Amino acid sequence: MARIPTILASALALATPASGTAHEVEQADWSIAIHGGAGTLSREAMTPEREAEYTAALQAALDAGAEVLRAGGEAQDAIVAVITKLEDDPLFNAGRGAVLTWEGGVSLDASFMRGDTREAGAAAGLSHVRHPILLARAIMEDGRHVFLSGEGAEEFAADHGLEQVETEWFITPRRRDSLEQFRAAQDDPQVSFNEDEEHRYGTVGAVARDVRGNLAAGTSTGGTTGKRWGRIGDSPVIGAGTYADNRACAVSATGTGEYFLRAGVAQGICAMMRLAGMDAQAAADQLIVEVGEMGGDGGVIVVSATGETAFSFNTSGMYRGRADSIGLNEIAIFTDTPPVDPPMQAAAEH
Ligand code: ASP
Repeated sequence: MARIPTILASALALATPASGTAHEVEQADWSIAIHGGAGTLSREAMTPEREAEYTAALQAALDAGAEVLRAGGEAQDAIVAVITKLEDDPLFNAGRGAVLTWEGGVSLDASFMRGDTREAGAAAGLSHVRHPILLARAIMEDGRHVFLSGEGAEEFAADHGLEQVETEWFITPRRRDSLEQFRAAQDDPQVSFNEDEEHRYGTVGAVARDVRGNLAAGTSTGGTTGKRWGRIGDSPVIGAGTYADNRACAVSATGTGEYFLRAGVAQGICAMMRLAGMDAQAAADQLIVEVGEMGGDGGVIVVSATGETAFSFNTSGMYRGRADSIGLNEIAIFTDTPPVDPPMQAAAEH
């Protein structure tokens, strides 16, 4: 196949929203973008070892999704390949390594959507399902409902043969420390709780377009440290944290969920593209500006119906990556991280 020129739009000035570069890959056979959360990530605060760990984890997840798409698999299967990997990785705030609730437990949320039929599934308040994204997909495939919660959702998971684990399995010392700090800060206003990547960030998500032109999106999270009263953010809410519509785009979001809920971010981006004719980058930037104006922070990943991928975020960093059939392979964390060199395998496809 002749290589279609890649258009790299110039990076937007960091006046909000800070975003990556738009990467338009017209007629790429398949494309995928992933995130592992957004937040106040500073290069100075991160050791080279920690940065290398995140980069390797993101690359492994991106490769898992790209492999599915390269082999002609479905966008939905690519989403599952990426997110199940990140859910098992304690670096990220999803599945194992999720942040802890006020009571010291976990309450996991996930959502899944396919763009051809606009069928969707979501679950919130889980503490035993090893892979919440698989439950979200199973709810979608079952088709009777879109959104299940708590014990009922876990009963559904058990009935559908999904793996269950003890709550302890999800809990890591790092997240226990974060909860302690968070609680100390609530008790004593003199103690500050720096809600940086050590404490909250690390929600995971993926969007993909397969060789048939079908889109899919998924998001999985532990929510926010110290959440109480059954708080649910945007991540499991179809239209806020996740959306997919073959007529426009697929989106997964991460950030202060309350604002993403109020702005209807994921569906809003698709609506801007479909009804106002915006491209993925412009639509994503517009919704992130709105979130910022309301006081929220975070970011989104988008893939358009034609395979264009976009990142947009108003934080100093977002763990992210993207790949496509014509050789794009990029992992980045901070706003100024240049794309990494394509690996041999991707380069060999030309
Ligand atoms: N959006 C998630 C929530 O509010 C958290 C995050 O993405 O950092 O639950």
